Amino acid sequence: MTMPAALAPSVLCKYEPVIGLEVHVQLLTETKAFCGCANHFGSAPNTNICPVCLGLPGSLPVLNAKALEFATLASLAIGCEVRERSIFARKNYFYPDLPKGYQISQYDKPLAERGFIDVPTADGGTKRIGITRLHMEEDAGKSIHDGFADSATRTYLDLNRCGTPLVEIVSEPDIRTADEAFEYLTRLKEILLYTRVSDCNMEEGSLRCDANVSVRLKGAPQFGTKAEVKNVNSFRFVRAAIEYEIERQVEVLESGGHVIQESRLWNAAEGRTYSMRSKEQAHDYRYFPEPDLPPLIVSHEYLERKRAELPELPEARRARMIAEYELNPKDAATLTSSREFADRFEAAARTARSPRRVANLLLSEVGGRLNALGLEQEQSPVSMAGIVLAADLLDEGKISSKQLKQLFDVCFEKGEDFAAVYEREKPEQITDSSALEAMIDEVIAANPKQVEQYRAGKRTMAGFFVGQVMKASKGQANPGLLNELVTRKLDG
Ligand SMILES: [Zn+2]
Repeated sequence: MTMPAALAPSVLCKYEPVIGLEVHVQLLTETKAFCGCANHFGSAPNTNICPVCLGLPGSLPVLNAKALEFATLASLAIGCEVRERSIFARKNYFYPDLPKGYQISQYDKPLAERGFIDVPTADGGTKRIGITRLHMEEDAGKSIHDGFADSATRTYLDLNRCGTPLVEIVSEPDIRTADEAFEYLTRLKEILLYTRVSDCNMEEGSLRCDANVSVRLKGAPQFGTKAEVKNVNSFRFVRAAIEYEIERQVEVLESGGHVIQESRLWNAAEGRTYSMRSKEQAHDYRYFPEPDLPPLIVSHEYLERKRAELPELPEARRARMIAEYELNPKDAATLTSSREFADRFEAAARTARSPRRVANLLLSEVGGRLNALGLEQEQSPVSMAGIVLAADLLDEGKISSKQLKQLFDVCFEKGEDFAAVYEREKPEQITDSSALEAMIDEVIAANPKQVEQYRAGKRTMAGFFVGQVMKASKGQANPGLLNELVTRKLDG
């Protein structure tokens, strides 16, 4: 099998894709959802297990209060209404890595419902993607199919993951393009990270995404038959998998066939999805209320306490920082890319004479050099305090922007912070008025035409003279003093 032949845009645009996303998120609790076992990735196999998470007869689950706290915070952060009374339910199925034979989940009475995430659209607006529900559940164990000498004939089980607390967040089928899906996931992950309920590490499986994709003729009243693309482990792959599925399904319909309701797996190496198993109808999980757990009651007081604990969320923070530091949306997005980075920036910027200049230096001078070297922000030799010092020196006219660039160059060449480099290489500045005046006189004498223009009212011409003298002084003229003297000479 190969990629479907590229469909003509005139064919594709007859159809409307309908996409819904299901995201599983592991919560960052110390212990598991219903027992005291460590909730820790990377432990030796089958060491973090007990009768409760193995579902041995006679064992009883007890809900981890921290798991409820994190699930509640996540619900509020995505605008959901939290139910006062939700019900845990057993989801029954047989699978080797599920020794209990069921997962504790929630079914018709989930913890939270009716949330939303706003995503940016191509035309600069926003679109609201509804969230149907957020429910709590526990993870299953892991089957290990490779890495052992006899992996060809045997499967190994690691049950450490059994009972890891999860929330599942289900979107409404509001998504219409692969890009919208990508934006939704990016924003959801950002919100969860800001709320600190999960590390959202996709490589370790802390965040997993299934995409339900169908297509229908534009204007058709009913949804088409959907295929579910399971467990795609990066947002870029989710986008690619959805794009592939849309084309595949349109091609099936165009050639007179029917889309089969099934689960499909994304193969990143081949850039296509494969049928996993047919899913003629919804699995019969024989849900019933979990008899070992009472109804979950979330009081109004508890909810309000959790609401008060919510941090400023990314979207609100971006809007505030755009106003406060006069940033453009792109720079604001960079500065708020993580809560930690935004916190470090704001803590530093507030101590500076001009917080806006700190933002500019961080993004342009430091950010540009990091980009050129392919380094992350954490690898920067220049600390936030170093950037504040540089910004203040520039503001006070103690260094020119050219000198600042040179000092930053040294920082990056030697891997040293700005304060140390500045102390050692503190540029000599010409602050002697008479020396500067002599240079200004020379420039004025050499450019009579520009002097005439200035005196005829073209005040911006002063910048020309400042530039010329700065050049003649090899960037060492004190910029504040130079400005003042140039104006005085030209007006005199
Ligand atoms: Zn346990």
